[in-house]
Amino acid sequence: MSGADIADSVTPASINATASDVPQDQPAFVAPRTYLEQVRPIIPPKPLTAMDWEQMEALKTIRAFLKVRTSYDVLPLSFRLIVFDTSLLVKKSLNILIQNGIVSAPLWDSKTSTFAGLLTTSDYINVIQYYWQNPDALARVDQFRLNSLRDIEKAIGVTPIETVSIHPDRPLYEACRKMLESRARRIPLVDVDDETHRAMVVSVVTQYRILKFVAVNVKELQKLRKPLKDLNVGTYSNLATAYMDTPVMDVIHALVKKNISSVPILEKDVGSVVNVFEAVDVITLIKGGNYDDLNLSVGEALLKRSDEFAGIYTCSMNDSLATIFEQIRKSRVHRLVVIDEESKLKGVLTLSDILEYILLEGEENE
Ligand code: AMP
Repeated sequence: MSGADIADSVTPASINATASDVPQDQPAFVAPRTYLEQVRPIIPPKPLTAMDWEQMEALKTIRAFLKVRTSYDVLPLSFRLIVFDTSLLVKKSLNILIQNGIVSAPLWDSKTSTFAGLLTTSDYINVIQYYWQNPDALARVDQFRLNSLRDIEKAIGVTPIETVSIHPDRPLYEACRKMLESRARRIPLVDVDDETHRAMVVSVVTQYRILKFVAVNVKELQKLRKPLKDLNVGTYSNLATAYMDTPVMDVIHALVKKNISSVPILEKDVGSVVNVFEAVDVITLIKGGNYDDLNLSVGEALLKRSDEFAGIYTCSMNDSLATIFEQIRKSRVHRLVVIDEESKLKGVLTLSDILEYILLEGEENE
């Protein structure tokens, strides 16, 4: 398109303005940008409603609360901490987790007397992936100790998870920021022993505990009245889903590939949500070092769930964070599946999403 072509399509006023410096025998040159600037409608920013203001006030209160509380405040008065020595067999660690109803444990290297990171479901999933790639190596998999987990990461080509930790006296806000930056759903609290000056693992703080603590203590949460459909929180596209007859290994691969902790299970052809496969479900599947169950379908695998399973929580796009926090206060919620009136999947709202929203939404304006 020549300058003249463009000029033909602009208003006379704009031609005059642009053509004034140009010799008469040459066509006026109008840059496309000039044209766009003139036709682009100016949309005035939407005025904030009373609900918007309240929502922002509540978020500020939550952040202020997290800045004056520490991880120590979140810990119950009495708790037990199970720490694994890195020389423990992976198989044994799994049984200890199951027997104690826990899903992670800090690691301790007794050779160097140092904290050696946190054992989580991701580590077991890595072992599964290794076994899946090298099925003939079952005898070797059985002999793996916790200190070989890093080698397994290397062998299957996953990026090692950064070992984050925080001092229990630091503000909770800082612990939350560390969680968001590292995408960790839990971080160990590491103090230094006054006498020996050695690192000492005190406990582990989780997204769940922090959000529960907020839900119980911050009454301004009631002001978070905006519905999910008007907020930018949760995931609503490119959702990883599966069916009851999907091989469970496919779901495990999806958990790793997308770095997610659950996959909604849908009814075929209907699309309604019938269950959710969670990363912690993997632990029961390989209990006792038996890898045969990895050949099961999702439906068969879910039958092996323990009776203590906390259940599945759902919400709709019309729910607000106030009602969701109320649910977190009352129950062991780790995620909510967002559904419509026909139970069809709309999205996934996890504790990571809620944490990110309460920490970052509108923060730049504060
Ligand atoms: P999570 O680790 O489960 O807290 O999820 C991390 C991020 O992935 C969050 O933003 C979730 O909304 C998103 N997410 C969780 N599950 C799924 C899924 N099945 N498909 C797509 N995204 C998901």
